[in-house]
This record gives sequence, structure tokens and C-alpha cells, in this order.
Amino acid sequence: MATDTLLAERPQSQTAPDSPAALAPLIELRHVSKSYVGADGGSPVTILDDISLEIREGEMLALLGQSGSGKSTILRLMAGLTEPTQGAVLSHGAPLAGVNRGLAIVFQSFALYPWLTVQENVQVGLLQRRLDARQEQEEIHRALELIGLSGYENAYPKQLSGGMRQRVGFARALVAQPEVLCMDEPFSALDVLTAESLRAEVVELWRGSGHAGLKSIFLVTHNIVEAVFIATRIVIISSHPGRIRNVIPNPLPYPRDINSKPFAAMVDQVHAAITALVLPDEPAEQPVARVTGTGVGRTTETAEGMRGRVATPTGTRVESIPNVPVETIVGLLEIIEDAQETINVYDLSTRIAKEFGETIAIVKAAEMLDLIDTPKDDVLMTQAGWYFLAAPAPARKTFFRQAIMKLRLFQMLAARLAEAPEGRINADSVLDELGTLLPYDQPAKLLETLIAWGRYAELIDFDQNANSVYLHEASESEDEDEDPE
Ligand code: ADP
Ligand code: MG
Repeated sequence: MATDTLLAERPQSQTAPDSPAALAPLIELRHVSKSYVGADGGSPVTILDDISLEIREGEMLALLGQSGSGKSTILRLMAGLTEPTQGAVLSHGAPLAGVNRGLAIVFQSFALYPWLTVQENVQVGLLQRRLDARQEQEEIHRALELIGLSGYENAYPKQLSGGMRQRVGFARALVAQPEVLCMDEPFSALDVLTAESLRAEVVELWRGSGHAGLKSIFLVTHNIVEAVFIATRIVIISSHPGRIRNVIPNPLPYPRDINSKPFAAMVDQVHAAITALVLPDEPAEQPVARVTGTGVGRTTETAEGMRGRVATPTGTRVESIPNVPVETIVGLLEIIEDAQETINVYDLSTRIAKEFGETIAIVKAAEMLDLIDTPKDDVLMTQAGWYFLAAPAPARKTFFRQAIMKLRLFQMLAARLAEAPEGRINADSVLDELGTLLPYDQPAKLLETLIAWGRYAELIDFDQNANSVYLHEASESEDEDEDPE
């Protein structure tokens, strides 16, 4: 997106610079709660609890929270599309009456009219401005140019890539000349590379002269890296009910470098705040934390970039799990047994004819389960490893189950499932959560491994038809309960 001023002709604000209205936040939620009546007309469910939040002029604010925490509801409250059950929504210090014209929203799902061309879709954003036809064409032209859509004027949405469609969404929001450009998970339906470039363009848009006519950008997301990349202030919301837990200023200078140390430190800080919210209170289990202290662990870290390096201030660690099948781990143990207890990791790589990176992943998986140890470049069997190898299948499963329950990810997932109705959670919400918790991982791969290991341990399982993850025990006891029918 070019950064010339799209909205140069924007009318000046009516309020005097020092008046209370000028000093007031652009939008404010003051002690807002929101409840919905339960599905079967039952007692109301509280979605948001005592939310106080303001959007200030000159900031890019990110609201970060897991799926279902109430982020979109906050956006709808700000937009005047729904009303609070308690508390007040203010615009420039005055109670918001009806729809908030100061705000435009870009949605994840693009929300374009399929039967309208790009140009006509953007025109929808002009409806409130009552321009004549020539002015409309100028505004549309400028917006399309700014957002990198010149030449696509007459295309239909279905002819465009996801990234291009989302650009139409941005153009439509911008021509409305909002004070606040709101984005509701605007990049999460895009492929990784497209998302990355569009994010950078949003930052460029803001950094261009006059912020492209905007007073603030408000980003709703469940992606930590995205929030740290874009926002000047990050608000973290917890779930069930949604409550504001942390407000973290993000002073990193632009343009921000995702690979820089200060960036990683900021991601760590936000990550630690979120981890503290979602983790149970017990102290971290040592086998997990120990892995990165060893020779092989360190190599893995270098090989895998920032993965697994995030720790909370208390040392509580959520570590990713390598995508390695259980049989492969057993195979590794058998090779170490053949090698009589210890083998150099480079020799091991040659021996099993796997690339070094892959070898490291297998070794790391076994080490996380305490089956092996990795002093320096050597891989050696632990007592537990010998036990596991010699044990009959049921004992292996029991061991495996105990071992994975020392890993934070499994602890968390099991705790979540134990609380969930019928011990089941929709896989998509698990994926969202994994994405939040381990921003450098591929959630789908991670879930695949969690399920594979969980199945072997007879701890958790996956129901393809219902697309849900469930607790092994829960489903069994449920079956028993239903038998008497
Ligand atoms: P997020 O955007 O963070 O994923 P939402 O704001 O969409 O969360 O939803 C928060 C919670 O409120 C969810 O549990 C959702 O099911 C519930 N919810 C949202 N809108 C309604 C509604 N109109 N009626 C009942 N429940 C709703
Ligand atoms: Mg949402």
C-alpha cells in the first residue's frame, strides 16, 4: 500500500483542541458487561465482565485473546451494533447513541458482496458520505491505488485471491473515512506469506503521512506475533467470561524486525502474561524445562529458531512437541540399545539415515519423555528408557501416559477437557489456543502430535465426525452411563 494521504480532504474535527471532548478517548468502554440468555432460554451467560477499555488518538491498539473470549463482541459494542448489559460505551466522552459512524470494520471473512465488482464493493463504504458521482469515483480510485488494487476495479471477488479480497475489505473501510479502523482477525483467513505482507502494509499505511487519515487502528487478534508486530499497546483478555488481564505498552520502534532480540523479548513478555492466564497453578515439571539445557536441546533451539524458548517469569514453560510418531521413538530406543547404551548424535543421524534436523526432533521427543539423556553430543538411555523398552505393552502405555502428563501442553489440554462439557472441545478452538500459546508452531501439526501421543497413552482422542478432541476416560464413562437405556 502506498502511503500518500488518501483522505486529505477530511473535514477537521468540530471540537476545539483543548475541549474535554478532544481529550476524551475516541471510544471507551466503561465497566461494560455483556450477557446472553442461554440457548434453551436458561439463565444468562456472562460473555464480558467489567471491561474498561479505551482507544486513544494516535495509537494502534491490539486486543489479544483466545477464540471465544469476547473480542468480536467488544468490537460490536464499540460499533454500536449491540448494547452492553451493564456499563457504558462512550464516543469522545459522550454516550454512544446508535451506530458509531467513527469506526469502520475489516472482517476476517472479507464480507464482500459476490455479485458486486471490486469497485462496487468499495463504493458500499461510501454510502454514508453522500458524495456526487464524480467525487465517489475519485475516492474509490484513490483507495484502490492506496491499497494496491489498481487494475482490479471490475473484477468480481471470486476472481481474486484471499489477499486481494482482503485488500478490498480494507479499501471499503478506508473510504468511509473512519477515525478508527477496526480489524477483526483480518489476516487469519490468509496464507502465512500473504498475511505477513498485508500486516507490514497496514503498518506502512499507519506510518505514512497523516496515518492515512486515521486517528487510531484497533486490531483484534489471537496471534501474539501479529499484535507485537503492529500494536503500540496490547490489551490481553481472558476467557469465560472475558476480562481484561494485562495492558502492555509496546514501545518497539518501527519498522519492526520479527527476528530481532527486542522483538523476541516483547513476544516473550506477552506470551508469559498469557501463559500465566491459561496454565494451571502447579509449578513446572522439571523434565520439560531441562531439555533445552542439554547439548542436543540447544542444537534444536538453533535449528528451530525461537521455538520452545518462551518462559514465564516463574520458569513455567510451555514447550512445543516435535512431530514424531511413538513408533519412531521406540525405534530410537532400540537403536540405542543396539549401540549399547550410548551413541553420538551425528552417528545416529547416519545410522538412521535421516537428516540431522529430523534426527534432532526424534531425540528431543524421546528426551522430553525422559527416555534418553543428551550430555554433549551423545545420546544415552536413561533408567526410564530401559524400563520402557523392556516393559510389556500395557506398562509401556502407563509409562507413556505418566510421561506426557509431565508436559505442560498435555496438562493444559487434559485440564481443559476435564472442565469441558462431556469432556469434549471443538478441534478448531484447540487449534486457536495452540496458535496463541506457541506462535512459532504450526497448530495443525502440533495437534496431530498431541492426538497421536494422546491416543497411544489412551489419554485423549479425536472424533473426526464431530471434529472434536475428547478425554479418553470421559467417553468411556459416558458409554457406561448410557448403557442402562
Ligand atoms: P471472539 O471474537 O473472541 O472469538 P465472540 O465475541 O465472538 O468471541 O464470542 C464470545 C462468546 O459469546 C462466545 O462464547 C459466543 O458463543 C458468545 N456469543 C457471541 N454472540 C452471541 C449471541 N448473539 N448470542 C449468544 N452468545 C453469543
Ligand atoms: Mg471473533
